[in-house]
Amino acid sequence: MVSLHVGIDDTDSPRMGCTTYVASLIVEKLVPLGVSFRDYPNLIRLNPNVPWKTRGNGALCLRINCDENRLEEIKETTLDIVEKNSDLDSAGTEPGVVFYFGNTVPEELKAFTKQAIQGIVKMRDAVRLVKAFKAEAVAFKTQRGIVGALAAVGETLTGDHTYELIAYRTPQNRGTPRQLEPASVLQMDKKTKPLTFNNLDPETGRILITPHGPDPILYGIRGETATAVRRGHKMVKAIEPIERWTIFRTNHGTDAHLHRIASIKDIHPFNPVIVKGTVSKTPLIIPRRHVIFAISDETAQVDCAAYEPTGELRKKAQELLTGDVVEAYGGVRPLSKKRPLTINLEKLRILGLAPKTVFQNPLCPQCSRRMESMGAGKGFRCPKCGFRSTKLEKSIVEKGRDLQKKLYVTSPRSQRHLTKPLSRYGLEKPKRSDEMISNWFWVNKSVLQIHTE
Ligand code: ZN
Repeated sequence: MVSLHVGIDDTDSPRMGCTTYVASLIVEKLVPLGVSFRDYPNLIRLNPNVPWKTRGNGALCLRINCDENRLEEIKETTLDIVEKNSDLDSAGTEPGVVFYFGNTVPEELKAFTKQAIQGIVKMRDAVRLVKAFKAEAVAFKTQRGIVGALAAVGETLTGDHTYELIAYRTPQNRGTPRQLEPASVLQMDKKTKPLTFNNLDPETGRILITPHGPDPILYGIRGETATAVRRGHKMVKAIEPIERWTIFRTNHGTDAHLHRIASIKDIHPFNPVIVKGTVSKTPLIIPRRHVIFAISDETAQVDCAAYEPTGELRKKAQELLTGDVVEAYGGVRPLSKKRPLTINLEKLRILGLAPKTVFQNPLCPQCSRRMESMGAGKGFRCPKCGFRSTKLEKSIVEKGRDLQKKLYVTSPRSQRHLTKPLSRYGLEKPKRSDEMISNWFWVNKSVLQIHTE
C-alpha cells in the first residue's frame, strides 16, 4: 500500500464548473480502483485577497491509500476527469494537479501552505518544493495551477476546521434558479445550529446555503462535524433532483487567512491582517456605499473601510471617534491613485472607547430651563422666564456611546468563506479526529443513468 495525496486547483471559471465537483467525480471513480480514503476530501481556501483570483480561491486535496500496482490507473483517472471537467477555454482557468507520496506532510510544505493562505507565494517556490519532495505536478496551460494544488496538499487541517456537505445539481438544471423549499431551510437552521452555521443571514433572512452562479452546486451546508452537516442535509427539501453530494473537511469559518501583526508599518498589500490601532481620522460616511476611517499607532497610519453590504459592522464603524482603540481584521488593498493602503474590514474589535463630550448651555438658575445663547460672548437668556446672564458658562457633558467593548463581525451574507462567524466562537477544534462517518459520499445512480441515455 502507498499513501498518495492528490492536490487539485483552478479547474473552474466564472461561467462554469467548480473544483469541489471535480473532486467529487474523482472520488466516485477511485472507489472501484480499491483506494481507501484517509480523510474526507479537503477543501482548502487560500488567500482570498490574491489579485488574480477573483472567486473563492478554493483548492482540493484527496488523501488516499492505494495498491502500488494501481497507481498509474489512479493518476490517469484523476487527470482525465480534471481535463474533461475544466473550463480550459476560459482565459483565467489554469488547472494544476499535484501527486505527493508519503504518510505525512513535511513541515516545509505546511509552511508554504500557510503562506498561500495568509499571503502570496511564488511559483518558483512551488516548483522547487515539487522537485524537493519528488512529487509529480501536472499543469494544464501555464504552471500557475500547481501553486494551489501543492498548497492544498500542505494543509492537513490538524487545528481548527469545519465541514461542508455540498449537494450538486444535474447538468440540465445548471444555470437555472435553484429549487429548494425555503421553509425546510429555516427548519434545518433552527434544529441544527450552532452545529451548522451561516445557513441564513440574520439581518435579512436571506437563505445562504445556495450560491447564485451557473456552477453545479445546489447547496452547501457548513457545520462543526460531518454528522451535523449530514443531519442538516436530510432536513433540506430539494424540489429539483440531486446528482450527488460529498462531505468536505475544510478551513471555512476559521479565520485561517488573518495574521496578527505587531505594528501598522508591517501591513503589506494582499496580506490579510489583524492589527491594533487608535482611531486617528473620524469616520467619513459615503452615503449608500461605505464608511472610511483611519487608525494609527506609533509606526504608521492606515485607512479602514466598511462596506454597505456589511450591514451592522458598517453602522458601528460610523460611531467611532478619534481616540477609540480598536483591532481591525481584514484584507489589505494596495494604495492607488485614489486612496491609500486600506484594510477592508471583516471584523472590528473595540478595545477602548474615548469619552464623547458635548458642550451644553447652562440651566436657568431661576426656573431650571435650558438657557439659549445670545451669540458668542453675549451670554445666555432663559426662554421661559427671561433671566439673562453673561457670567454663566457652557458645561461639558459626557454622552453615552452606541458601541460596546466587543467584537463586531460582518453579516454572514457578506462574509468570506474563511471568516470565522460569531456563532463559531467557543466551538473551535484544537485538533482533528481521525474517525470518519461511513456515508460521506453519495451518487444518484438513477439520475446519472437518465443522462447517458
Ligand atoms: Zn428661567
